[in-house]
Amino acid sequence: MITTQVFSQQNDTIIDSRYTWKELKKIFETAYFDVAKNNFSEDQKQFVRRILDSDLVLIEIPYTGFDKRIHSGQIVCNKLVATDLNNIFKELSQLRFPIEQITPVSQYDYTYNKSNDDNYTYCFDYRKETSSNKRSNHSYGFALDINPVQNPYKSAGKTFPSNAREQLSTGRIRYTDPMGQKVIELFKKYGWSWGGDWKSVKDYMHFQKP
Ligand SMILES: [Zn+2]
Repeated sequence: MITTQVFSQQNDTIIDSRYTWKELKKIFETAYFDVAKNNFSEDQKQFVRRILDSDLVLIEIPYTGFDKRIHSGQIVCNKLVATDLNNIFKELSQLRFPIEQITPVSQYDYTYNKSNDDNYTYCFDYRKETSSNKRSNHSYGFALDINPVQNPYKSAGKTFPSNAREQLSTGRIRYTDPMGQKVIELFKKYGWSWGGDWKSVKDYMHFQKP
């Protein structure tokens, strides 16, 4: 019997994951509505229900990996920013800006810390802001985190993820890196703001719209 390898290559492109939106949505629902894991309030349940049913879409993203090869990753984002992200990632790919991996957060069983430790690039993730009790823009699919290990979140005395390696230039986003500067300018061209510009904390991995 011939077995097919699912996560394989196609025309030299490495396919990172191949979820359908229906499959992913099911995985999100199972995790968010699992009472043992999350004791969501009615308000939280309604929010998650609405965002999964009407606001989010799954898009296929071409990108250059740390292995310098062309990958195809998947991002779940708000449908209002899907065109932006398609255009931005096309340009990032032309720049050959390296990204370690883009796969839906569901692979991490919703463990945000683990996904950041593994240097995962993603958009939608239902959670609160790191520094407040408000819903994060990731909860709406309006924010994107890129290569968290090279681009950590920094506040007074705290760096996240804890395995951050800021000295690594591959995939780093700073004004002082020629490639990083182009990445920042590219997002701004599409009207996105960058967490590295924030004054009180620095969130170098983070872009959001508006
Ligand atoms: Zn973020």
